[in-house]
Amino acid sequence: MKVLVINCGSSSLKFQLIDTAENSVLAKGLCERIGIDGSNFEYRKGDGEKTSALKEMKDHKDAVALVIAALTDPETGVVSSLKEIDAVGHRTVHGGEKFKQAVRIDEDVIAAIEEVSDLAPLHNPACIIGIRACMDLMPDLPHVAVFDTAFHQTMKPEAYLYAIPYEYYEKYKVRRYGFHGTSHAYVSSRAADMLKKDIKDLKIIVCHLGNGASISAVQGGQCVDTSMGLTPLEGLIMGTRSGDIDPAVIPFIAGKEGISCDAVVDILNKKSGVLGLTGVSSDFRDIVKAAEGGSEISEITLRAYSLRVAKYIGAYAAAMNGVDAIAFTAGVGENDAGIRGRICQYLGFLGTELDEERNKEARGREAVISKDGGKPVLMVIPTNEELSIAMQTVEIVGRA
Ligand code: ADP
Repeated sequence: MKVLVINCGSSSLKFQLIDTAENSVLAKGLCERIGIDGSNFEYRKGDGEKTSALKEMKDHKDAVALVIAALTDPETGVVSSLKEIDAVGHRTVHGGEKFKQAVRIDEDVIAAIEEVSDLAPLHNPACIIGIRACMDLMPDLPHVAVFDTAFHQTMKPEAYLYAIPYEYYEKYKVRRYGFHGTSHAYVSSRAADMLKKDIKDLKIIVCHLGNGASISAVQGGQCVDTSMGLTPLEGLIMGTRSGDIDPAVIPFIAGKEGISCDAVVDILNKKSGVLGLTGVSSDFRDIVKAAEGGSEISEITLRAYSLRVAKYIGAYAAAMNGVDAIAFTAGVGENDAGIRGRICQYLGFLGTELDEERNKEARGREAVISKDGGKPVLMVIPTNEELSIAMQTVEIVGRA
């Protein structure tokens, strides 16, 4: 099947047309600065050259119209008409407690996504705008919402409840939700394939280390715990996000700096993490370079980052009473052998040993990076959220 995967931000729209039979990307691209001066349209057909052009896009509907025009263009296109596309899969950030899996979109579903928008005020409204624009311009195609939170809905209350007055959960649904669900689902399933074992018999820890970073414990194919919380701020140290801190830090800084608690939370989201500690960059390549150049705080930051990941791995090994495989994915996890090495230094007690050569050679491709015979098996598995969204879309459409 050919599935158009849409990932909408408030002023951007990323797309990929995926052939799920071949697991191949027929075309992909990006609309940037939608509704802002200087809107840009990037497009690439298959393995071809990327083209980039300034095109007016006053709203998401204009952006979707450009996407359709490019995909069906006689020269640059990959389909002769929309009739050749089977479905549209929409990456949707927050599904609250309502959505435990992907769902075919209708007005009730849009209303339910709107209802949980206060849990993801930056993301869900943009998703809805994108969904509406696509449904207006492609009314004959089935549209499916695939939620970042859905995979984590199998967590039990002991994993998802915060130890705060229970009424806040009852009244406002304050709890751990977790994010990057499509990535955790995809990578854990690939890990089982690589081990040639049934995922039902496996305990897997997935470390999604990108700009945003989260870790999950997947037992028998189901998520039992994950590091992100009510919002994507909790857990690991990230590019610009602090991850776990004592909540009392927030009013303390607010008082000292004479700013609001909201302003501090904004700093925790956008100016913290490895960027905040080093003052250098949110990009790990810059920090590694700075550490190699003698920056002490950059070196400490890399150590702090690795220690945090290792502590979560230890916690999740305990939560599952064992672990068969640990998989590294996303920008840092797939590419940075140095960080993987630093994390794995802590894991000998589990009974595993990193193979330095395998680790060095593994970059952006599936590989086992531990020595043979040990457990847990250490792995690098490139994530593919778009493919995962396309596959889930096919599953839902096929079921209808
Ligand atoms: P997201 O999808 O969350 O924006 P990615 O998964 O694309 O993020 O990861 C982006 C991050 O990956 C970059 O900020 C950078 O720090 C890191 N990264 C990418 N390539 C490399 C590399 N070769 N070595 C080290 N870090 C890398």
